[in-house]
Amino acid sequence: MFVDSHCHLDRLKLDDAGLTEALTYARQRGVEHFLCVSVSVKDFDSMYEKVKGFDDVSVSCGVHPLHQEDACDYDTLLEKAARSEVVAVGETGLDYFYSAETKDIQRTSFVDHINVANELNKPLIIHTRDAREDTIALLKSHRAPHTNGVLHCFTESLEMAQEAIAMDFYISISGIVTFNSAQALRDVVTALPLERLLIETDSPWLAPVPHRGKENQPGYVVEVAEFIAELKGVSVQTLAEITTDNFYRLFRHAKNT
Ligand SMILES: [Zn+2]
Ligand SMILES: [Zn+2]
Repeated sequence: MFVDSHCHLDRLKLDDAGLTEALTYARQRGVEHFLCVSVSVKDFDSMYEKVKGFDDVSVSCGVHPLHQEDACDYDTLLEKAARSEVVAVGETGLDYFYSAETKDIQRTSFVDHINVANELNKPLIIHTRDAREDTIALLKSHRAPHTNGVLHCFTESLEMAQEAIAMDFYISISGIVTFNSAQALRDVVTALPLERLLIETDSPWLAPVPHRGKENQPGYVVEVAEFIAELKGVSVQTLAEITTDNFYRLFRHAKNT
């Protein structure tokens, strides 16, 4: 039914038994698949080790824009991202909100990820904050026509979302949409077509209402789905079906059990 299109299962403050329990809870609530997103190529092996036993968990490989201390060279990224279990390249992107001083290195890393995605024909998972123009410009100048992806945990403008959609990208919405302060994001979500939306937790961060203040977990993607369904005036079932179809269309190598 539901898919958590973006979570960091290796970053939850849980031991192996706790992780198994969190996934069981999510499955009981109807979450059928989890995409565990890499933030550091250096940590890819240990992340994969934690989740490879679960049939309903897929993985990506990349360096988060705010983890440039873990930056790696092009060949290392290409080699890891080429592994058959890797369904997407990222998360990568640009974050000038938290780290404007690393702009140059972020841009270099982002371009490397785009080139790797082009070469491997795998989709991109993009994190973008306060860097609208550069994100779109670098995609336009380096992206091969067959490469698409997702702007995850989206909090930017409708115009940016539309430019990304014009490049065959999807827009993923996290629990931020439930926050009181997020009216601008709710307006964007209202205006976007359901056929372009994904849902995510970005757990362990950003727990949705009514779980704010707690550690987020993949089962809470249900609250994100319920909230967006209400916003869009559709049933939760319809919202789930469409966003899950969107997920498998984009992440075509994800295990579809
Ligand atoms: Zn992110
Ligand atoms: Zn993330």
